[in-house]
Amino acid sequence: MTNQDPPPDEDDIGGDPVCWLDRVCPECGRFAASERKPRTCPECGAELSV
Ligand SMILES: [Zn+2]
Repeated sequence: MTNQDPPPDEDDIGGDPVCWLDRVCPECGRFAASERKPRTCPECGAELSV
């Protein structure tokens, strides 16, 4: 518990789609819906843009 809690994901959805566009694999289109963006696609292993 800190004073700098991140905003809840639910409120974030629909606000700015660009912010999670970089979580979509350019190779297979898989959406990495984890809290932290993976460096590589969990599906095909392609490197995600940073
Ligand atoms: Zn992929």
